[in-house]
Amino acid sequence: MMNPTIMNDDRYRERECLHRQQGAEGFFYRGTTYVQSLQRLKSGAALEFSTRVTAFFWSDAHNIVVWLCHDCAGELKLINAESVPSQRPPPPQFVEAR
Ligand SMILES: [Zn+2]
Repeated sequence: MMNPTIMNDDRYRERECLHRQQGAEGFFYRGTTYVQSLQRLKSGAALEFSTRVTAFFWSDAHNIVVWLCHDCAGELKLINAESVPSQRPPPPQFVEAR
């Protein structure tokens, strides 16, 4: 049974850094990966990032993908992190019970 709050809205919500509108190149990253990286930053740097990327509730991070340009991703050390190739992260892997 579906959660009524996400009815008709199974698309992952997207956030992006402000450089996207300036034509920068970048990738989507999982919201959870973004939040984890943000938490590793010093508080001043994390605060600065919050002015660049549209805010979201961290508790929603698993439903969100964040587009970051290469510069922002580099500052978050996400360059080698798993990026999301499309606008939708791959579905979770389910292990079949035998
Ligand atoms: Zn950026």
